[in-house]
Amino acid sequence: MTGPAGRNRRVVLYGNPALRQQAARIGETTPRLRRLFADLLRTMLEQDGMGLAANQLGEPAAVFAINPRGAGLERNPCCVVNPRITRSEGTLEAEEGCLSLPGLYEILARPERVRVEGVDEEGKPFALEAEGLLARAIVHEVDHLNGVLFIDHLSPARRGLLAGRLREYEAQEQAACG
Ligand code: ZN
Repeated sequence: MTGPAGRNRRVVLYGNPALRQQAARIGETTPRLRRLFADLLRTMLEQDGMGLAANQLGEPAAVFAINPRGAGLERNPCCVVNPRITRSEGTLEAEEGCLSLPGLYEILARPERVRVEGVDEEGKPFALEAEGLLARAIVHEVDHLNGVLFIDHLSPARRGLLAGRLREYEAQEQAACG
């Protein structure tokens, strides 16, 4: 990808309102958006995420970064703009985590295979077929753009057990935001 060098930015934590916002569809690619794309890629790679949604940088725009290498695939990390899941098959239970809830891992059922379509950083049509871990990451990131977190899919009983932990994230986020 050509463009500005990205910055490794702070990923907002559970409790930040940006994580609950519906991301706005992206129109024309502006210099500001190009910086956001670069920051998403840099931050995802530096912080060892398999994916990162713009909401997690506090900017609810419909784009996420994804790193297929995290799932062992020979495909470069990239940004997917205005993504939509156009196919979804099977179910797979596995452990899942999120940079906005660091250290928290829960078993979750997700589709086994998905197809995601959108456009790339240059505005060209983009499609990716994924399975397993990568499919999970893609669905997780699309959720973020809809203001949904992976813990929302847990049973109320399980979420109840996490309440204390979630309050800690909220306190950390408030301290970070001032
Ligand atoms: Zn996440």
